[in-house]
Amino acid sequence: MHVYMRTVAVAAVLAWLVLPAPIARAWGLDVHRRLTERALDGLPVEIRAFFNEQRAFMIERSVDPDLWRIADLRGRLGEEPPNHFLDIDDLGEPPPFTNVPREWDAFVARYGEKEANIAGRLPWRTEEIYDKLVVAVREAAEGRQYGASNARYLAALLAHYVEDGHVPFHAVRNYDGQLTGQRGLHARFETALILDHWGSFALRPVVISPIEDIRAFMFDVLVESARLTPAVLDADREAAGPDKVYGAAYSERFRAGAGAIAEQRVNDAIDAVASAITAAWREAGSPKLR
Ligand SMILES: [Zn+2]
Repeated sequence: MHVYMRTVAVAAVLAWLVLPAPIARAWGLDVHRRLTERALDGLPVEIRAFFNEQRAFMIERSVDPDLWRIADLRGRLGEEPPNHFLDIDDLGEPPPFTNVPREWDAFVARYGEKEANIAGRLPWRTEEIYDKLVVAVREAAEGRQYGASNARYLAALLAHYVEDGHVPFHAVRNYDGQLTGQRGLHARFETALILDHWGSFALRPVVISPIEDIRAFMFDVLVESARLTPAVLDADREAAGPDKVYGAAYSERFRAGAGAIAEQRVNDAIDAVASAITAAWREAGSPKLR
């Protein structure tokens, strides 16, 4: 285990040093850490102590899927990058995209394997990790070897994918503003906006909602993300002005135009992570976890 973790850490550091920075289709790593930390604080009392016992581990591990992406590791569904998004507006269906197949096999049948994987797999990847978490929670409750550590690790990974779904630009084809002359918007949203203004966001108490079907839930999250993108694109365009200067004045104007959306998505993501971990525990039979 330790050798494995060290290998992953070394690989991740090497990847950072060696590879050119990919276009980030993600919250910044630091945003993931902050969202996961808040979600851990908001877990129901029955499971809060169990997951917070390895709090630092969970917060740090919630960025792992981005490190796999950067290090080019492949999972069962294929290469990692498409696991982090679904361009739901790129499938020839009008909003709110109710005609996009929710079953993976039907999705592939409709669009073909290549196009399906280009569009993205976030809801199915989230479901895959969620299902593993349900099993791990049961094994943790039975005191099986690695049960508890797997449950914490998988909950951290689930947090990552749920958080990704809340980034408006993980749901649309124009994910970096590249189609509207606003290239770099992905990073401007997550650094200029989220990290620079984090301290001014009103973070409300975590609300746990029941999740009956994690895949359907992620589709709903993505539909909402897609709905929010035009307002963010408008705010960015207006803040940058005709000369497209992205300095301090831009940052302030962008916050005025899109800060409320960012704040809403941050709060939604925190609620959703805490709710998804809770739902997995309930689906496992709400066992006592020590
Ligand atoms: Zn990601």
